Amino acid sequence: MNRVAIVGGGLSGLALAHALLRRTTPDLPIEVSVFESERRAGGLLRTERVDGFLCEHGPSSFLDRAPATIALVEALGLTSRLQRSHDRARRRFIYRGGRLRAVPASPPGLFTSGLLSLPGALRLILEPLVRRPAAVADESIHAFAARRFGEQAAAVLADAMVSGIFCGDARQLSMRACFPAVARMETEHGSVVRAMLARRGSTGDRGRQGLGRLTSFPEGIAELAEALTHSLGPNLRLSTGVERLQSVGACHQLTLSDGGSVVADAVVITAGGAATARLLAHTDAALAADLTAIPSAPMVTVCLGYPAGAIGHRLEGFGFLAPRSAGLQLLGVLWESSIFADRAPAGHVLLRVMVGGATDPGAVDLDDERLLARVRAELRATMQVTGHPRLVRIIRHRPGLPQYVTGHGERLARIESALERRPGLFVGGHAFRGVGINACIEDASLLADRVIGMLTRRGGRLTGITRPD
Ligand SMILES: Cc1cc2nc3c(=O)[nH]c(=O)nc-3n(C[C@H](O)[C@H](O)[C@H](O)COP(=O)(O)OP(=O)(O)OC[C@H]3O[C@@H](n4cnc5c(N)ncnc54)[C@H](O)[C@@H]3O)c2cc1C
Repeated sequence: MNRVAIVGGGLSGLALAHALLRRTTPDLPIEVSVFESERRAGGLLRTERVDGFLCEHGPSSFLDRAPATIALVEALGLTSRLQRSHDRARRRFIYRGGRLRAVPASPPGLFTSGLLSLPGALRLILEPLVRRPAAVADESIHAFAARRFGEQAAAVLADAMVSGIFCGDARQLSMRACFPAVARMETEHGSVVRAMLARRGSTGDRGRQGLGRLTSFPEGIAELAEALTHSLGPNLRLSTGVERLQSVGACHQLTLSDGGSVVADAVVITAGGAATARLLAHTDAALAADLTAIPSAPMVTVCLGYPAGAIGHRLEGFGFLAPRSAGLQLLGVLWESSIFADRAPAGHVLLRVMVGGATDPGAVDLDDERLLARVRAELRATMQVTGHPRLVRIIRHRPGLPQYVTGHGERLARIESALERRPGLFVGGHAFRGVGINACIEDASLLADRVIGMLTRRGGRLTGITRPD
């Protein structure tokens, strides 16, 4: 029997265990154990239903165009539970010049949107004419956007998008690591706009619909974590952290928080960058330094439920983002009850406010009272929200979302090559090859292939190790 230990029972660890168990065969039997330090699995995937409001602690949705996610949902028997977002959720807003402005569906709309000045909009539509440099270093998202679309588009549109997706700083994050597909568009077509037009022409995709539709489940994203947890049964050990990892011959020994230990042929750490660095610190100082150097941005999610009459905006959309130049503390507000059905009781709306991130890491340390006062003042200024919320839930995320800053690709390559010298050791999860739900599930599937490849090469044998139990 080949034994695989997975450290961390967040989405990445659970999806990896699920993939491995589905690939086990009589020729290659695999015993999979997931060790999760918390009392519940799912990591950031956590949903609470409070007084009829559905409050997501972390992620709320994924785009339904990712084959690995759709296959996992199908395998878990959740396909009939999929909940598609309302059509109106395709409309997004950006706070600019003291008001919320709709992001137009096509570039000509930028001229009347109020998001960019006339010269800013003209510069943006000239993107297809901008020559691609012969060689581009790993540049920031801001640098890429400014080079291709102009400084104003970078400061308003790219900045807002980076706040929304990564809670990050567009001047720090790596274009190649965060948006590899867009970076490739320039390399392959010489222009992002030309690449999009070519793709639309060849697939018949119509605008944003080509990206897929925001999707979740009626009882929230935790349904995915719960189904995975259920499918793993005794393979998942909760309240069992991994405290130490050491090589024993050709295998790896894990020391557990309950005092026990296990030996495995392969270990995959999906516990986040800092925890991964701690576990590998004694094996290789350079590897640990590279792992530690992947920063995270702490952030706060504030769920607020209001009577519908308290909001002076129609909430016909997904929500709004605030570029840092807007001077707001909040990064953005998701209009949860406009995105999905049944997120708030009748006559009420649910807002989810994001605060903190790479440009305001101290926000996570504000006490509830101060944080709430600031958020409510900004909701009043941006969406004319009055009155008291009926629901308040404040969720702090520490260490928060990993930040793929410039140099991430090279750092990742060094981490991978250090691990190649330690057969049977792998790292996964959102710290490395993609932060979103779809990226984590796809990465888990690819990792399962790599683990199986390694076990197959080893002939599926344990080499002279006696199990401590
Ligand atoms: C506020 C927020 C909103 C988001 N919104 C979206 C969204 O709408 N759509 C989207 O696609 N993505 C979103 N994301 C990103 C997405 O949620 C995450 O990238 C993804 O859930 C990461 O899963 P993971 O398993 O890699 O990490 P985690 O969920 O962090 O799981 C790691 C697990 O490891 C465990 N662990 C740590 N140390 C140990 C140890 N020593 N031993 C055992 N266990 C350990 C932890 O307890 C945890 O359960 C959001 C993220 C945040 C923070």
